[in-house]
Amino acid sequence: MNFSSSEHPTQNSDQIKEASWVLGIDLGGTTIKFGLFRGSQLIWRNHIRTDDFDSPTAAFESCRDSVRQTMASSSQSIDDLQAIGLAMAGVLDPTAEELAETANLHRWHQLNFRQQLSTVFQKPVFLLNDADAAALAESAHGLCRANSLVLMTLGTGVGGGVILDGRPVRGANGCGGEIGHATIDFSDSARQCGCGFPGHLEAYAGAGGVVQTAQEILAESERHSVLRKMNPLTPLSIANAAADGDTIAMDVIQHTGVLIGRAIAMLAHVIDPDVVLLGGAMTFGGPGTDTGKQFLKSIREECYPRTLVQIRSHLKIEFATLGNDAGIVGAAHYARQTHQAQQSKLPSA
Ligand SMILES: [Zn+2]
Repeated sequence: MNFSSSEHPTQNSDQIKEASWVLGIDLGGTTIKFGLFRGSQLIWRNHIRTDDFDSPTAAFESCRDSVRQTMASSSQSIDDLQAIGLAMAGVLDPTAEELAETANLHRWHQLNFRQQLSTVFQKPVFLLNDADAAALAESAHGLCRANSLVLMTLGTGVGGGVILDGRPVRGANGCGGEIGHATIDFSDSARQCGCGFPGHLEAYAGAGGVVQTAQEILAESERHSVLRKMNPLTPLSIANAAADGDTIAMDVIQHTGVLIGRAIAMLAHVIDPDVVLLGGAMTFGGPGTDTGKQFLKSIREECYPRTLVQIRSHLKIEFATLGNDAGIVGAAHYARQTHQAQQSKLPSA
């Protein structure tokens, strides 16, 4: 589901008491997405390419001018903007409120984006990891809203965000929710994860891991498969082959689902969430395709029998629904939520 400026994401909690204006920013490696919200309604959205600007400050100034113009057309001034939420990839240093490590912003590496945004806008800026932002957005505005929710993002890597009591859980070192680095294979032959450790989920359910699974099944089997002729082999070609009935491709998806199901079963006993969502580009077509549905079925069929009845009786495993908007929606929600919490702690004048 994509929000447009005419749609009204439903407010889900008492935390959003007023139609305050907040800006959600999703800072990616090549694109910066902006969403201006009044209450939980998306009023305006835009995106710019980082390559078009010499510095983040120039990019943020361009954004500020657009925000000012948009608010003026609603008879508001930029002074009425309450706060800004900034979602970025990387490990967040919980004390410094900066990114300790950026994954994909090589061009503007090691810049203090929060500080620069705050200087340009003269507003409080709240920083969060992009997976946390996506999880928070699903928790507050997705089709499967829940105050206890885990989002697994399946792509090149496997990321995740954990929401408890409606708030992102970052942990003591900013690494909370790094589900991709949970160990699911303890054998001597476990694959090496990109982080250097063996047996992590990401080495099996990330894009490279899925391709490796396909290569291994192809090597072990003499069955006919269109995958044998494909070079390079990609998760998309595997999904397409599965949709055409290729049994090896279907086995690859089933096997990937089984491993993800085991990881969710482990996680469920630690967190006991109401909802676990699967998002990202690597969901084999997601809810709109038979392949995606089969993938989800294999996850559930592996997870539920391994999970205590008290947990599985309420645990929903579904696909995420907010897609590319999750970053700006979650960043904006976090800005409002955190700003209002801070305001409520201030002594009254
Ligand atoms: Zn790892």
